[in-house]
Amino acid sequence: MNLHEYQARELLKAAGVPMLEGDVATTPDQAEAIARRLGGGTVVIKAQVHAGGRGKAGGVKLAKTPLEAREHSAKILGMTIKGLIVQKVLVVPAADIASESYVGLIMDRETQRPVFMVSAAGGVDIEEVAATAPEKITRLAVDPRFGLLPHQALGLALTLYPGFAQVKAAAKIMGQLYTVFTGNGASLAEINPLATTPDGTVLALDAKVSIDDNELDRRPDLAAMRDESAEAPSEVAARTAGLTFIKLDGNVGCVVNGAGLAMATMDLVKYYGGEPANFLDIGGSSNPEKVINALRIITSDPNVKAILFNIFGGITRTDDVANGIVAATRQFKLQVPIVIRLTGTNEAEAIRILQGVGMQALNDMDEAVKNVVALAQAAA
Ligand code: GDP
Ligand code: MN
Repeated sequence: MNLHEYQARELLKAAGVPMLEGDVATTPDQAEAIARRLGGGTVVIKAQVHAGGRGKAGGVKLAKTPLEAREHSAKILGMTIKGLIVQKVLVVPAADIASESYVGLIMDRETQRPVFMVSAAGGVDIEEVAATAPEKITRLAVDPRFGLLPHQALGLALTLYPGFAQVKAAAKIMGQLYTVFTGNGASLAEINPLATTPDGTVLALDAKVSIDDNELDRRPDLAAMRDESAEAPSEVAARTAGLTFIKLDGNVGCVVNGAGLAMATMDLVKYYGGEPANFLDIGGSSNPEKVINALRIITSDPNVKAILFNIFGGITRTDDVANGIVAATRQFKLQVPIVIRLTGTNEAEAIRILQGVGMQALNDMDEAVKNVVALAQAAA
C-alpha cells in the first residue's frame, strides 16, 4: 500500500527526521490559509498522489505569497498525474536548496535484506542517474540481525557530503529511515531530495513510503491510512471482491487461478508477442461470483481487446468457473472476444456448460495464448 507524502512525513517525523512543518489542503482557500499560518513567506504546493515525478509533471510549485499559494493550488487540485486525480495538496514552507541527495531503502529479494541506495545526485532526475550513471548510486545491504550499524551509516553519508557536520546529520537520518522501514513493515522508504540548505542544515524535502500489504492486518493504524479515492478504481474493486489484481498497460485481459499460473500466463502472453492488461488471481476457491467480478473489472478497462481464462482445476472446480463465465455474459454483454483454456477437476462438465451457450474451451495453454494474442492484435 502506497502512502501519500503527508502520511509518510508523519512516520518520518515520529522517528525524528528533520523537516519543515506543513499542512494538507483540499481547497485553494485552505491552501491560502495554511500559507498565512506558516508566516506568509514562500511555500511549496505539492500534489498528493501515489506517483513519483510530480515535480516534472507540474505538481510541485513554489508560491511566494499566500495569494499565489491559492492560485497554484487551484491549478494543481484536480489535475491528473500518471492517471491519478489530485485531491489534496501539501503546503510547506519552501527551503532554500544548496544540494539534493537521494536516500532510499527497499526490501531486496536477491539479498533478502533491506538495501540502502544513496546518491549525491538526487532530485527529480534520479531515475535518469540510475539508468545512465548507476555508479553514482551506492548500495548497502543491511543485516537485519544487527540493523544499520553506525559505521555503515557514516560510510554511506560520506558518499553524499564532504563536510563532517552534514555527514553526521545524514547518518542519523539514515538510522531513522531504517527505523521507519522496519518498524512499519515497509517495502520502500525514500527521501528524495534529502536537501542541504545554504547554512548547512540537512532536511528531508520529500518522503515516500510503501507498506507491505501483509503488515496491514496487524497494524490497524497503518491500514487506516489507505486512501481508496487515490487508488486505481479497478484495484479497489478487486480488493473488495477478494481478488488479487494488479492493473498493467497491455490489452490482453487475464483471468487465472493461482499466482504462479498467473505469472506463467503473463510470461507466455509476452512470449507470443502480446501485452497483459493485468495480473489477476481468482484464488483457489471457485465461487462463480469471483469470476463475475473478475470479468466486470477487466471489461471496465477500455484497453482490453481480448480476454484469456487460464484455469487449472485442482481445488478450483472448472465447472464453477464455467458457470461464472455463463452468468457474467448474461449479466452484461461482453464487447471483446474471450478465449477459455481449462483443464482438471470437472472439465467435462465445464466444457458441456460452455458448449450449452455456444462457447468453446481449449485444453492447451500455448494454443489458447496464441489465439488470444492474435485476437487482441487484430482488434488493436
Ligand atoms: P517528486 O518530483 O514527486 O519527487 O516531488 P519532490 O517533492 O521531490 O519535489 C520535486 C522537486 O521540487 C525537488 O527535487 C526540488 O527541486 C523541488 N522542491 C521541493 N521542495 C522544495 C523546497 O522546499 N524548496 C525548493 N526551492 N524546491 C523544492
Ligand atoms: Mn521527490
